[in-house]
Amino acid sequence: MMNERPLIYDLSREELGKVLEEWGEPTYRLRQLWEGLYHNLWHKADQFTVFPKPLRQKLDSYFIFESIFSEKESLADHGQTRKVLFHTLQGNPIETVLMQALDRNTLCISSQSGCGMGCVFCATGQMGFIANLTSGQIIEQVLHFARLLKKENKTLSNIVVMGMGEPFHNFENVIRAIDQLNDPNGFNLGERRFTISTVGIVPMIRKFAALKRQINLAISLHAADDELRSQLVPINRKYPLNTLLEACREYVNLTKRRLSFEWVMIKDINDSIQQAYRLTKLLKGLLCHVNLIPLNPTEGYTGQSPPKQRIKEFKAILEQNSIPCTVRLPRGISIHAGCGQLATFYQRQNS
Ligand code: SAH
Ligand code: SF4
Repeated sequence: MMNERPLIYDLSREELGKVLEEWGEPTYRLRQLWEGLYHNLWHKADQFTVFPKPLRQKLDSYFIFESIFSEKESLADHGQTRKVLFHTLQGNPIETVLMQALDRNTLCISSQSGCGMGCVFCATGQMGFIANLTSGQIIEQVLHFARLLKKENKTLSNIVVMGMGEPFHNFENVIRAIDQLNDPNGFNLGERRFTISTVGIVPMIRKFAALKRQINLAISLHAADDELRSQLVPINRKYPLNTLLEACREYVNLTKRRLSFEWVMIKDINDSIQQAYRLTKLLKGLLCHVNLIPLNPTEGYTGQSPPKQRIKEFKAILEQNSIPCTVRLPRGISIHAGCGQLATFYQRQNS
């Protein structure tokens, strides 16, 4: 049975205000409700002790406060990487990963259950598209971890939309979720602390650029020629490199913001010196930064991560050509924390 009551996090502040107004509540109730949800991180109607009991009961019978349920939690990297597999009321998997390092707590959230883009090396891609998440379900992942951290007197410092799914195929909900978390009267996490990663949906990159938001953008590139990129990232056939790079340049021109490129390094596939040189040509003169991510091997793909030396050589070529470059540490491999891996692992065990 589908739950017909709305998820409270799916409603914007304005929309919640309208509901309270219809109920004949005084205007200050909206502030209390919003602060309760997004500042105090309350997630049950009976926690709203600032409200008279009838209002608490009304909230409880009108809304649901939870629509994704934690199914399995795993730890890796001495507890610094924490992954939760949730499922929705319909049973769709969603995964969220917290990465802690010194003073930074970065949360990697999902925008969809599964993904229809079919990148060959990606576990989520191997799963296929299941469903778009609502803005409230995107927010729920964040609040779940914010509550965990609060118990340790910590807060989230960054949120990356790099979990399951292609965020630009669920654009409205992703932006709505970020707006809601951005509100200074509520969760108050600044736009610059968010990063959206896209496989390269060109019309949406343009649409996003035109918004001139402070949200960071990352593009998953993985190859510097169309033949190779189309093999790894099938959507490249629709949006080939020249159109993609054109949209990237437009983004930087419009926003004046530094763009990130992701490059999953796959042994003997895209780790050659030749690819590195081609990449420097593609990115010449663009305000950008490259993240090299050693491949997290997945069940459905035979590729491996390159030897360290090869990654070093690749990085050196970029740097010699004035392209800043960081090698991302593979994290959470033991708990299948790389992009969709836990969910597929879990589905396999249960099938
Ligand atoms: N769909 C978006 C965001 C989610 S994927 C995108 O593709 O950008 C987030 C990042 O994880 C992407 O850069 C993706 O290429 C990378 N990734 C996917 N599978 C991986 C794997 N097996 N090992 C390492 N990185 C992977
Ligand atoms: Fe989808 Fe991103 Fe995985 Fe490609 S890498 S299949 S776009 S989640």
